[in-house]
Amino acid sequence: MSKMKLIQLLLLLFLTASANAQSFKTKITLQTPESGQSRYKYIPFDVPENTQTLSFRYKYDKKGGDNRLEFGVFETGFSGRDGDKRGLRGWSGSVRDSAFIAEDRATHGYSAGKIQPGKWYFIIGLAQVATEGVELELRVNFNQIDEKPLKQFQAEQGKRFSFDKHRKRKKLRSNGLTWFRGDLHAHSFHGDGSWSVKAILDSAKSNSLDFVALTEHNTFTHYREIDDQAAHYPDLLILRGQEVTTYGGHINVWGLPRGEWVDFRVLPDLESSGKRIAKEARSFGALASINHPTMNCRGCKWTYDDHWGNLDSVEIWNATWDRDDEEALKTWDKFLKEGRSITAIGSSDSHQPPYEPSTYPTNLAIGNPTVFVGAKQLDQEDLFKGIRSGSVFVTKKPQYTIELSANRIYNIGDKIETSNLTKIKLSALLKGFPAGSKMVLISDGAVVQEELTPKGKLARDYEFRPVGRKYIRLEVRDAEGKMLGFTNPIYLSGKTSKRKSNL
Ligand SMILES: [Zn+2]
Ligand SMILES: [Zn+2]
Repeated sequence: MSKMKLIQLLLLLFLTASANAQSFKTKITLQTPESGQSRYKYIPFDVPENTQTLSFRYKYDKKGGDNRLEFGVFETGFSGRDGDKRGLRGWSGSVRDSAFIAEDRATHGYSAGKIQPGKWYFIIGLAQVATEGVELELRVNFNQIDEKPLKQFQAEQGKRFSFDKHRKRKKLRSNGLTWFRGDLHAHSFHGDGSWSVKAILDSAKSNSLDFVALTEHNTFTHYREIDDQAAHYPDLLILRGQEVTTYGGHINVWGLPRGEWVDFRVLPDLESSGKRIAKEARSFGALASINHPTMNCRGCKWTYDDHWGNLDSVEIWNATWDRDDEEALKTWDKFLKEGRSITAIGSSDSHQPPYEPSTYPTNLAIGNPTVFVGAKQLDQEDLFKGIRSGSVFVTKKPQYTIELSANRIYNIGDKIETSNLTKIKLSALLKGFPAGSKMVLISDGAVVQEELTPKGKLARDYEFRPVGRKYIRLEVRDAEGKMLGFTNPIYLSGKTSKRKSNL
């Protein structure tokens, strides 16, 4: 091609691009919704024919945190109403103020792919609005990607990570179960995390985990990367997850099918919301678990459903053990004392590698703490069976392990009919904990036995009178009283039930 022709072609391309570059702009004033009103607003915009890229900008005065809005986008096919799940194309919550979608790539949290012309919608979540209201400016550029989201995307794609050397650990096997190590709560660039999907998997591997769940806030765009990566991690069970993030509590859902998400648009004061979310999760064969039930951030605290009824598990240990976890543990003891049962879990909720200065909100390796699930084999179905039945213990590090059994046959999570039993023999075996850690047996909210552990191993049998008691569980604490590990209970009343896989 001659130089002249090339210049002509470039000029033509430039003119076509300019002709196609259009934009949509609107300003809207938002107010705090009345109690009982939806917290979501939908703003429609028309996408013209021959649009290859969309670039969004969300602009408002945050007023030092008095205003907090969340953003996402629905494509054609959506009706503009709560309850309609068709066409969610992406969600970035309050993490980003710009985003783009192109055919071959998109801001993490948004789906790349063809852009259908027609009516699209912004979804705006009113997390917090100052009393005088907030003015929001929304802009869409068609066929021209803004520099800011493009640079952000490139920086995320190019980020390098480092990991501790992978150490293979021996599998813990007891009473016919293998105790698989995992982490059920982590965030990548697709949500508000600073990890790539691959980096989360590498961190899980370096900690010798057997399973990991990636749980992004209200989006599903990480699934594709999970599916692409899975073949490179044959020993790691990777679960597609969503942190269903509402303004009255957060719920982790694990095991979602490709492309599916659970509707997060609930009224914050609607008691039955937790139940509804759990039902929707189960309709996909997934599990639903309450996250950080006592955490003091806006919307993080659990407010739904008869406390914790209806859900499969509750995250008693979130990230580094602190006052919130201590409070969650107290609430759990109260719940168990009433003769009810719910599986307690723990997870890193990691957003960032541990070697980076913590910005928002947790920088921990994947698997700190580690959740151990007793299962026959490492597949989703058996893992979920283990979680549901309470075959779970949690430790600060993957090398700390706990075994607890009753009469040598009943395991963590089992139920024993005790009306004819005057005593049972409890056997505890702790491995890997630092010397001077304290082992504590707790029944119905009260300490029944305490013992300091030597370095390496502690093996003990105790005689225990179970009559009139609801449960017995075990904790390990460090010299300052911080949690190093805890088990789910062996339940002491009601009909005997043992997991078949234990036999
Ligand atoms: Zn959360
Ligand atoms: Zn989270």
